[in-house]
Amino acid sequence: MGTRVPQKEGHVKCPICRSGETRPGKASSLLERGGVTLVFQEVPADICENCGEEYFSEETTDRLLKLAEEAVRSGVRVAVRQYAAAVPE
Ligand SMILES: [Zn+2]
Repeated sequence: MGTRVPQKEGHVKCPICRSGETRPGKASSLLERGGVTLVFQEVPADICENCGEEYFSEETTDRLLKLAEEAVRSGVRVAVRQYAAAVPE
C-alpha cells in the first residue's frame, strides 16, 4: 500500500486531435430517431479548445436519449428544446 495513482484533474486531452484539452461548456445536440428530428440547445458538454469537438457525458447522453424517446411517443416530428428546461433537476 501507499502508492498513489495520479488522479486526472478536470481537463482531459482530446482524443480526436490529441493536442487540445477539453473544457466544460455548452453545446447543441442533434438527434434523429424514427423520422423525428430533435435539437437540444445549451447541453452541458466538454469542448476541445483546439478542434471544437464536443463530448457529452454518459449521463447527459442518457438523458438526451430518454427525452428523444418521449418526444417520439408524443408524436413530435421536429423540435428544438433547451436542455436545462427539458431536464428536471
Ligand atoms: Zn480536439
